[in-house]
Amino acid sequence: MPSHIIYQGPSLLDGQEIIVVAQTKTSNRKTGDMVQTYILRADIDPISASRTGQDFSICGNCPHRGKAHDGDKGQAKDRTCYVTLAHGPRSVYAAFKRGVYDTVTGHEAIKAIGKGRMVRIGTYGDGAAVPSYIWDSLCEDATGWTAYTHQNGVDGAATDPKRFMTSADSKAEAAAAWAMGQRTFRVIADVADVVAGKEILCPASDEMGKRTTCDLCGLCAGASKKAKSIAIVAHGTSAKKAKALVAA
Ligand code: SF4
Repeated sequence: MPSHIIYQGPSLLDGQEIIVVAQTKTSNRKTGDMVQTYILRADIDPISASRTGQDFSICGNCPHRGKAHDGDKGQAKDRTCYVTLAHGPRSVYAAFKRGVYDTVTGHEAIKAIGKGRMVRIGTYGDGAAVPSYIWDSLCEDATGWTAYTHQNGVDGAATDPKRFMTSADSKAEAAAAWAMGQRTFRVIADVADVVAGKEILCPASDEMGKRTTCDLCGLCAGASKKAKSIAIVAHGTSAKKAKALVAA
């Protein structure tokens, strides 16, 4: 599938070298047909980066990273992120290492990749680790975008609340973000945890009957959308652990 490196350079979170690979032809049950963007360490495969904690460069302080350990295989312990590293991230990294992707630079060329498409900022990895001019270019002629960040308050992170949903893991975190005019995306343990008047359930979720996809919905575009915040019941292979984390 056509994919391009649209950034290779230091992470805004720790200065380590990272890449952003934009995939232009994709299909995903929940997101629909969007330009997908993988944010990866340039020098270590995603599973090893998770295990050793070197995924800080692309995930920062996200609590769903789990606990690093000094074993010689597997990912971090108790990782609760819904992204399965052995799928997209590992294959994109392997293709990068094989030299499959070309590098696209400059505002006009990156803008052309997103033109007329919906963009998913951070299919894996946190978009706030990447200089904002990359997303400015990719989204300038796009029909919209989705973006989420766990990096509010982290030194150097490019967390524009007009672009990103603030990822919240508790009602208290969400309330603090709402008080600053931010919109949140909150993983919850049960539909009863939705805060009435502030949040709605993601319409693409199982609980809402999968009635749309992100490319058609587009609500997760930070405060650029005048809409309620979004909540979703923990899902994916780590759903049980994620529910325990957000319920704690
Ligand atoms: S609220 Fe809309 S954009 Fe956000 S995750 Fe759900 S379907 Fe996607």
